[in-house]
Amino acid sequence: MSDPFFHPVSGFDLPRFAGVPTFMRLPHVTMDDPQFRNVQIGLVGVPWDSGTTNRPGPRHGPRQLRDASTMIRAQHPVTGLRPFETANCADLGDVGPNPADILDSMARITAFYDRLKAAGIRPLTAGGDHLTSLPVLRALAKDGPLGMVHFDSHTDLFHSYFGGTMFTHGTPFRRAVEEGLLDPKRVIQIGIRGTMYDAEDRDFAKAVGIRIVTIEEYFDRCQLEIMAEAREIVGDGPTYVSYDIDFVDPTFAPGTGTPEVGGPNSFEALQVVRALAGLNIVGADLVEVSPPFDPSGGTAFLGVSIMFELLCAMLGPGG
Ligand code: MN
Ligand code: MN
Repeated sequence: MSDPFFHPVSGFDLPRFAGVPTFMRLPHVTMDDPQFRNVQIGLVGVPWDSGTTNRPGPRHGPRQLRDASTMIRAQHPVTGLRPFETANCADLGDVGPNPADILDSMARITAFYDRLKAAGIRPLTAGGDHLTSLPVLRALAKDGPLGMVHFDSHTDLFHSYFGGTMFTHGTPFRRAVEEGLLDPKRVIQIGIRGTMYDAEDRDFAKAVGIRIVTIEEYFDRCQLEIMAEAREIVGDGPTYVSYDIDFVDPTFAPGTGTPEVGGPNSFEALQVVRALAGLNIVGADLVEVSPPFDPSGGTAFLGVSIMFELLCAMLGPGG
C-alpha cells in the first residue's frame, strides 16, 4: 500500500493548470530527500537528443510531457487500477546530460540509473531520443540480459551511421545486443515500417533471433493475438518496455523526428500496452517526443497517456 506522501495533487483540490508541473502531479523527490528510499517507481526525464541523426527536438520532451501530464487522473478507465495507491511513485527529476558529448552523457545517465537500481526503484523514463534507452539498459541489465517489448516504426538495430559512428538513435539495440544487455531471443519489435536504407538491420535481427512484427502483419492479424505472442516471447523473465512515439501514426503523433505514415491510431497505441500488464517489467521508456514539431502539445498528451498505461502495466493486471 502506498504512502499518502506520494499521492498526486488532485484536480478536485487544485485546478490542473495551477502549480509547478511534475510528472502526473506527483511529488518531486531528489536523491538527497529522505523520501527517496520509499520510492518504488521513479518517473525520470532525460532531456537529451544528441543521438538524433535528422530532425532534433526530444531534448525538450520531458518539460512538455510534464506539462501535458497534469491532465492524467488517478484511475485506469478499464481495469480500475489506481497506480498511485498501488505503489509509491514520484517524479525524480531530470538526468542532466552534456549536450556536447555523447559518451559523457551516457555515463551520466547510466550513473543515475545505477542508483535507482541499487535502491530497488523501477524507472519509467520520458526521453529523449531513442539512444536514451542504451545507457538506461546498461544500468538495468547488470544482473543479466533482459527481454524487451519494443514499439517503434524502426528497428534501431543499425550497425553505424556516417561511416563508423556507433552511438545514434538508430543503433541503441544493436549495441545492447552486442553488450549482452538484451537477450535477442526474448526481444520483439512491433510496428516496423517505412522506406529503408537497406535490409542490414533486419538481417541482423534474423541472425540473432529478434522477432520483428511489421505493420503489415500488425494490421493483418488481431492485435491481441500479436500481444499474446509478445508475452510468450518475453516470458516470466525480467523485461524492459521501450516505446518510440513514432510507432503511432503521425496523424496522432506529428511531434517526432522520424515519422512514418501508415501506423496505429491513438486508441491502439494505448491498447497494446494494456496487454503487457503482469509481465515482469523492470523498467520502461517513452521516447522521441519532439515538441518543436508539435507545439500544440497533442503528441505530448498522447505520450503521457502512454506513460500512464506503461505505469499501470508495470504494476500488474489491476482490479
Ligand atoms: Mn526508435
Ligand atoms: Mn522510430
